[in-house]
Amino acid sequence: MTGNTRTGMPYCERSSSAWRALGDKFDLARALNLEAHARRALGQFEQAAALFKEAREIFLRNGDVSFASTVGANLATAYIDLERPAEALELLRNALDAETRGGRFDNALRSRLDIARALVKLNQPQQALAEVTAAIADAHAHGWKAKLADLLTTQAKLARDGGDLQLALSAQDQIIELQTSASGQAHSTAMAELEARYAARERELRIGELEQQNRRRELELRAARATAAEDELDSQRQRLRLAIAALAALALGLSSALLYLMWRSQQRKAEALRAETLHDSLTGVENRRSFLRRMGVALTKPSAAPHLDVLMILDLDHFKQINDRGGHLFGDQVLIAVVACLERTLAGRAHLARLGGEEFGVLGVALGVSDGLRLAEQLRTAVSQLPFRLGDDEVRTTISIGFAVHDSELHRHDQSSWLGAADMALYSAKAHGRNRVVSAAVA
Ligand code: GH3
Ligand code: MG
Ligand code: MG
Repeated sequence: MTGNTRTGMPYCERSSSAWRALGDKFDLARALNLEAHARRALGQFEQAAALFKEAREIFLRNGDVSFASTVGANLATAYIDLERPAEALELLRNALDAETRGGRFDNALRSRLDIARALVKLNQPQQALAEVTAAIADAHAHGWKAKLADLLTTQAKLARDGGDLQLALSAQDQIIELQTSASGQAHSTAMAELEARYAARERELRIGELEQQNRRRELELRAARATAAEDELDSQRQRLRLAIAALAALALGLSSALLYLMWRSQQRKAEALRAETLHDSLTGVENRRSFLRRMGVALTKPSAAPHLDVLMILDLDHFKQINDRGGHLFGDQVLIAVVACLERTLAGRAHLARLGGEEFGVLGVALGVSDGLRLAEQLRTAVSQLPFRLGDDEVRTTISIGFAVHDSELHRHDQSSWLGAADMALYSAKAHGRNRVVSAAVA
């Protein structure tokens, strides 16, 4: 209905028949009115008039007076088209009356315009002009602008046709004025619209800019996060490398310490072994092997001045009886005490060794005969004075000493002959009653 009546027509027809089928009188009347408008627009004046008429009658039957008068005004326009102005005029006067009472002033002005058209058709141009002029005055008085241009146009035409050129001119002027102000209004409206559009566009641009800023910030944030993550990974790798290096250093340190400890323990074992092979395990003094080595050194070492080396072999007297009386452990304690006593008495002047069983050797390098003999006597006396307790009894022990000298200048002895000489002297001491020192003949 807004510009393309031909396309709207079938919808109007369907609407009318649908309301008719439904039996809804009010909406049927409205649909008929609409279809009538369409048909009138298409130049189908007869059908339009018939439909307007039917609609008007329905409204009248229903008591919808104001609708009936409006549709009556519509019917009147169709009648004007159909050159039936008298019927049109009657309908229009009724409509105008209802519209004025109902306050529908735009409709009222249109009705007055149509009244003027009907009057023209009825060949009463003066009345028509009067009607239009009065309507224009009303419109001005109440500020009803909607129909003013149409009224003025009609007035100008009627005035010109009636020879009142002055009125025609004044109407034209008013029309121009109206158009100018309308175009001014339209212009300012257009300007306002344009400004609004610019403002909206500005807003859109600003929003776009802000969105872009946000996107940029987000990207920067993401980049910063990625960098931080990479840094974290780097420092993790660094920590790992450090941890591995520290572990390696620790492992190296530990293995070094372990190796050192193992080396130390081996060293100690070797030392212990060497001590074991050179010392007596019961008394702690040197054993036969080291004693013989010392003797060998004394016999072979070249010396600056001639001197006499002293060899003594000491044997505990009747030691078997001590073992028999006190037991083997008691015998051991006696051996340990005798060794301590001998070491005290020697006081570093000669070397003591256990040659085996209850037999000991003393080597006094460059000790000389008289010092040697005095020392032997001191040793014998010291041991004989040692007191041992066995239960309530006090037990004493004595030693016999074989004494033999080696002359570094004459060099008559080897190891076995020197030992043999001392041994012979010891044998002699035993034979002569024990607890004594016997010197081998210096041969
Ligand atoms: P003599 O005066 O003739 O030397 O008489 P003796 O009893 O001392 O000599 P004999 O050779 O008959 O006996 C030595 C004893 O010494 C025999 C042995 O049991 C004892 N004996 C040897 N070595 C040890 C030892 O390490 N501990 C103890 N308790 N006894 C030992
Ligand atoms: Mg013996
Ligand atoms: Mg003995």
